[in-house]
Amino acid sequence: MQEDKIILYIEDDPEARFLMADIIRYKGYIYLEASRGLEGIKLAEKHKPDLILIDLMLPDMQGYEVTTHLKTLPQLSRTPIIAITAATQKNVKEIVLAAGCDGFIPKPINISEFIYKIEEFLSGHKDHMEPEEERLYLQKYNIQLVSRLKKKILELETLNKNLSVLNSELFTSKEELSHYNDRLFYLNNLANYLRALNDPQAVIHILPQKIIEGFQMERCVLFKIVPEHETLVAEAAAGIALSFFEQNKIRLSEQFFHELAEEGNILWIKDPAEIVDESLQVFSEKMKAPSFLIGNISNLGIYKDSTSILKDSGVDLLADFDPSFSQQYLVFMDKGKKGGALHTYEVRIIKSFLHSAAIIHENMLLNAQLVNLYKIKAEQAIRDEMTQMYNYRYFIQELHRETNRSKRFNTCYSLMMVDIDHFKKYNDTNGHPEGDKALKLLSNLMDQNTRTTDTVCRYGGEEFTIILPGLKKSEAIMIAEKLRSLIEDHHFSGEGAEPCCKLTISIGVASYPEDSTRPEVLLKLADTAMYKAKAQGRNRVVAS
Ligand code: GH3
Ligand code: MG
Ligand code: MG
Repeated sequence: MQEDKIILYIEDDPEARFLMADIIRYKGYIYLEASRGLEGIKLAEKHKPDLILIDLMLPDMQGYEVTTHLKTLPQLSRTPIIAITAATQKNVKEIVLAAGCDGFIPKPINISEFIYKIEEFLSGHKDHMEPEEERLYLQKYNIQLVSRLKKKILELETLNKNLSVLNSELFTSKEELSHYNDRLFYLNNLANYLRALNDPQAVIHILPQKIIEGFQMERCVLFKIVPEHETLVAEAAAGIALSFFEQNKIRLSEQFFHELAEEGNILWIKDPAEIVDESLQVFSEKMKAPSFLIGNISNLGIYKDSTSILKDSGVDLLADFDPSFSQQYLVFMDKGKKGGALHTYEVRIIKSFLHSAAIIHENMLLNAQLVNLYKIKAEQAIRDEMTQMYNYRYFIQELHRETNRSKRFNTCYSLMMVDIDHFKKYNDTNGHPEGDKALKLLSNLMDQNTRTTDTVCRYGGEEFTIILPGLKKSEAIMIAEKLRSLIEDHHFSGEGAEPCCKLTISIGVASYPEDSTRPEVLLKLADTAMYKAKAQGRNRVVAS
């Protein structure tokens, strides 16, 4: 039955396959095709065709190699393999037979002859050569095969060599990657550690030691750059004593700093002979460093940005900023004579690390400055600008706080209302500026002669209030009396007519809980008592 017979055609030319498919199917055979040698072998193994037709010129394998391989497979050893190829060479048929094919059909094919031959081969016919001839061609074929094999072996050896080079390269880059990874891990931890320090000065001091550990350096020095960019002050060092720089002053030229900025804030000197800048040459000689890294780790512009943000938001606090904030640092590091050369990747990591360290440092400085400014502003908000005593707002707050505290802890407090006597006259006599001076002096005297727990406030004009926690009325009267006589005895500056250099005060006293438990009532009572003191002739203490 023809329908059961399978014919496989291995051919890279699609047109030839198209034609073959037509002829074979027309004759009722099952047709399979492959465009490459390897694909053909796989199909043959899978479908076990009854006949294999093969073009000997294939793109991936020599046709001979395919036939030799097919013949070695037990399930295909009896399958006839017919070569279809152009007879460009002499004795192609003999060569083909020697290579293990069972027959040969020359290209271009003659259809009727071709069909006849196919049927012949299917029924077991094989092309033959004379035994003597066959022996000769087999010998030729074997020689060809051996030389081809030799060539293949050589090719394989070269490939192997290349592979082993590639392998060792891969191994080196794997090692480098692993180093790189270790470094990055270390630096990430270090950056976190620096951040946690929360102290810009501590960052500067710890950095050289950490750089030595992280990059296997021999020495590392951090210099503070003085504003004119001329002398450098060694601030922190590892692997070399700071005192070395007391005897060896380091100066670097403007030109050097220009070059450094152009090189992206880091210079990698591989050989002192390549140094152009004279000042850097002197530096490298002093340090006896054959190869080193030098970089600027600040001047990143954060300072400018943040101050301009403050300015834009309407807060002009620049005057309060510490000028040390704009400090710049220069870092030097080297591996020493035995340390070996630096890798490019190391320099890249160092650069990126220094950048991070600079940002961390600057952020901390900015943070410290802001905290400081906040403290200043918070203090200013509760102080009277002229006398530096607490202001009215703070007094009211504190009066309520003290009332609550006394309630909670079941204690007492007293309140004094102090008014300067005839102050208008003092002003008229000595002038307003002298009046101001007297106000400052007088309030300071009261502040210094009361406890630190007492709160002296400028209530307004020439009136002051004093909160005295834990004092009952009798005790407060004694303190008031002490203050009154202190002021009376004090010699204020000023000249001219009465009261000249003398000032007196009238004080009204009210106490919690003796007079009232409500702060606003106590304030009123102290005020009234003070007016009573005025009415009674001034320069006296009156209790509520
Ligand atoms: P009395 O004994 O009745 O308190 O008389 P007095 O003159 O002190 O009281 P009055 O309320 O008539 O005047 C208060 C004066 O205090 C008027 C004002 O010029 C002066 N004064 C208030 N605040 C300031 C200040 O900040 N600086 C100066 N130099 N004088 C001030
Ligand atoms: Mg007054
Ligand atoms: Mg007065």
